[in-house]
Amino acid sequence: MNKADSERMAGILDDIGFESVEDPYQADLILYNTCTIRDNAEQKVYSYLGRQAKRKQENPNLTLIVAGCVAQQEGEALLRRVPELDLVMGPQHANRLGDLLEQVLEGNQVVATEPVHIMEDITKPRRDSKITAWVNVIYGCNERCSYCVVPGVRGVEQSRTPQAIREEMEQLGQQGYQEVTLLGQNIDAYGRDLPGITPEGRRENTFTDLLYFVHDVARIERLRFATSHPRYFTERLIRACAELPKVCKHFHIPFQSGDNDVLKAMRRGYTHQRYRRIIDKIRDYMPDASISADAIVGFPGETEEQFEHTLELVDDIAFDQLNTAAYSPRPGTEAAVWEDQLSEEVKSDRLQRLNHLVAIKAQERSQRYLGRMETVLVEDQNPKDKTQVMGRTDGNRLTFFPGDIHQLKGQLVQVKITETRAFSLTGEQMIPAGTGHTISV
Ligand code: SAH
Ligand code: SF4
Repeated sequence: MNKADSERMAGILDDIGFESVEDPYQADLILYNTCTIRDNAEQKVYSYLGRQAKRKQENPNLTLIVAGCVAQQEGEALLRRVPELDLVMGPQHANRLGDLLEQVLEGNQVVATEPVHIMEDITKPRRDSKITAWVNVIYGCNERCSYCVVPGVRGVEQSRTPQAIREEMEQLGQQGYQEVTLLGQNIDAYGRDLPGITPEGRRENTFTDLLYFVHDVARIERLRFATSHPRYFTERLIRACAELPKVCKHFHIPFQSGDNDVLKAMRRGYTHQRYRRIIDKIRDYMPDASISADAIVGFPGETEEQFEHTLELVDDIAFDQLNTAAYSPRPGTEAAVWEDQLSEEVKSDRLQRLNHLVAIKAQERSQRYLGRMETVLVEDQNPKDKTQVMGRTDGNRLTFFPGDIHQLKGQLVQVKITETRAFSLTGEQMIPAGTGHTISV
């Protein structure tokens, strides 16, 4: 989500006429787009900012901006901490960067953190990739997970209209993009704030309806989406994913904890049994689907036994990938002030044990690819080996194979998998029968 915001803001700066430079100490304008999901992300901002603030003392023409969630969380306090700042702007203001900058250039120090109705994108994002693109479908989050700072900093849910989303995707198709990832903090909430009831009395404009509405956009060959919430995940969505050929068979559904009491304290609104049923249902429809998730260890009061329930869930489900984190108390969240916080030692011990299991299970999952033919969308050169290119399988496994990036970039290539690792694969390109021969190394 942050990357998508960064690309939109970079697009606005391009439009104004700014050019990007490699060295941040040469730039006339610096914009840090910040994350505050955990404390270590936030601390990074302060260390970067300190160095730029010093530079500003010698070079008053430098424009310094902090955007994103730290800006939203800290607001004016950030100006007091770093008086050299020109602009502090929350994530809901990303599309307004041009206007805000105008106020700065008139000589004002500006703080833009009030809640706003997010304007429909009229900007052209400067996308990092020419092959895959992010498309926001819903901003904000109305959940109240007791550990999470997101609703506080990203505000209430605001869905874009299906037409606006489709139009953006059509433009992406015309520009040569092949893959789109639809984004929302809780993508299953899509459309709740839009009007519409079907003749059968069902709410129209659900995320599933959106998938049916956009899946046939010309030239977009692959569709992904994140993040799904187990509380709202429906069988209708699973069926749509099974039915629609462009939708990749990869599901990112964070479970956070495998223990029901911890889930309750987190206010997640589901049990581990419900989570398991969702995964079973996905695998009923799509036996080979990839499953990834997020999990937190060391939530306040988590006992060793409760943590072991998380290990059990990971062992049983066998995720293709899992983003793990030690619980980090966040300002303004419920759980941050609970007394039963765990020590850093306990948290990091549990994190290590979980990561160890995750790697073993991911390696097991990877093995199913061995000898198989996979379609890989080539995105780039392998930065560690220029004779190879890299891309992702439908199931989102990073895959390397020998090839020339100039010929293959943006191509969907048939690759035979010859080597597997926990989180990536290696293979060789297969040329369809009659058109050539197998390239081997
Ligand atoms: N909206 C998504 C994810 C939002 S944040 C969801 O509901 O799943 C991304 C991930 O950061 C979360 O899934 C969670 O695992 C992690 N996270 C959020 N707050 C955290 C905190 N206070 N400490 C540690 N990890 C956290
Ligand atoms: Fe945070 Fe929960 Fe919203 Fe995800 S659903 S962004 S974890 S509050």
